[in-house]
Amino acid sequence: MKDTIAAIATGMGNSGIGIIRISGDDTLSIADKIFIPKNKNKSIASMDSYTAAYGVISYEGEIYDEAIALVMRAPGTYTAEDVVELDCHGGITVLKRIFDLVVRLGARPAEPGEFTKRAFLNGRIDMSQAESVMDLIHAKNDMAAKSSLKQLSGELTKLIKDMREKLLYNIAYIESALDDPENYSLDEFPQQLETTVDNMLITVEKLIKSSSDGRLIKEGIRTAIVGRPNAGKSSVLNMLLGEERAIVTDIEGTTRDTLEEYINIDGITLNIVDTAGIRTTSDTVEKIGVDKAIASIDDADLILYIVDGTTTLDENDFKIMDKIKDKKSITLINKNDLETVVDKVLITNTINTKILEISAKEGTGKENLHTLLKEMFFNNELNYNDEIYITNQRHKSLLYEARESLNKVLESIKLCMGEDFLTIDLMAAYASLGKIIGEELEDDLVNKIFAEFCMGK
Ligand code: GDP
Repeated sequence: MKDTIAAIATGMGNSGIGIIRISGDDTLSIADKIFIPKNKNKSIASMDSYTAAYGVISYEGEIYDEAIALVMRAPGTYTAEDVVELDCHGGITVLKRIFDLVVRLGARPAEPGEFTKRAFLNGRIDMSQAESVMDLIHAKNDMAAKSSLKQLSGELTKLIKDMREKLLYNIAYIESALDDPENYSLDEFPQQLETTVDNMLITVEKLIKSSSDGRLIKEGIRTAIVGRPNAGKSSVLNMLLGEERAIVTDIEGTTRDTLEEYINIDGITLNIVDTAGIRTTSDTVEKIGVDKAIASIDDADLILYIVDGTTTLDENDFKIMDKIKDKKSITLINKNDLETVVDKVLITNTINTKILEISAKEGTGKENLHTLLKEMFFNNELNYNDEIYITNQRHKSLLYEARESLNKVLESIKLCMGEDFLTIDLMAAYASLGKIIGEELEDDLVNKIFAEFCMGK
């Protein structure tokens, strides 16, 4: 792991500035070979940490670019290793030539995410923080970025560490008491442990619950557009996207496959799945689309149900309403540039939904839809304030594991099982939570037992 890695750290397009990042033991000597400072006293090897120097990138008499070198010395760096960033001009060709030079002089091209991996392996950040770096980079909206930043600052880590510490204390206590019953009593222990575990379960439960909000924030509100053929689903999608992205046709059943798009409405992301019109069909190709449409209803957080306002509801509409009746939905009565004949009361009597009239063709009603969406998801449903959100599937499944183990502890207490039984499930919960922040089990457990309880003294 001690080899030196390098990468072009900025996007591969022409831009004002492009950065080459180098990390590892040979960083300073490699950078020193290619960077000639304007001020001759400012060679990279002699520079203090967190200082910059202006100069040129040059090797064997050839000048590659002007640059600013930023020197950061271990351990106070992103990777906890020596790091140099070369701020060059952002042209792809220039950057590639300098990067090749750095590699020729002994650096290895970094794997994706390898700088962050080193930060983790060098103990500067834990696993959940490392993961949040990636989430932050891939954030699709404001809320997702804020949530990742929070995780990066270690708030989730703190919560997990607190719980693990309590678990460890109890495990260690049991071990000590079994080993040294004269000094450690287990008389009141099960009751105390029950309270601790109960409280912990409340926290775990809250984190698990936050994961559905977390997913909404990170990936967007999964929204399915449904409606019978020709109701105007593709037109509504186009209206929302503001572009002619989906194909609009007059022939029924032409939206055969599903399309996915992201739409950002004032910081709320809708992940929209436009589906084939639902109707009873004998056409097999179309049938695939219809099945997908029905599946997308099950997965969706929100249904946009498009109704053709110029005709009465038909059997397909009733079939759709039956499928979406338990879902959160907004019904859009489309084509209100023409005369509306559809029976709105019949819809609200059949399903629990909010109704808006729109014309996808003329683009009217879009503002009302935005307002309604914000109302539904910003005020009532999601709490963005000071909560910690679980946005990562890996974390979520580990929390499920921890919950199961904690519940087993409670069960064992109720059944008055021996304390060593409790230890097994406490350890399992400890391990599951530890995996969230990427920590190993055995070493710290052993250290804790010896350090705090002085066994075998
Ligand atoms: P889909 O099958 O549900 O995806 O429906 P499309 O979006 O392909 O639209 C079907 C037809 O209805 C097309 O001819 C559209 O031009 C027309 N249409 C869609 N929205 C409106 C609208 O708001 N007003 C009118 N007058 N026609 C519309």
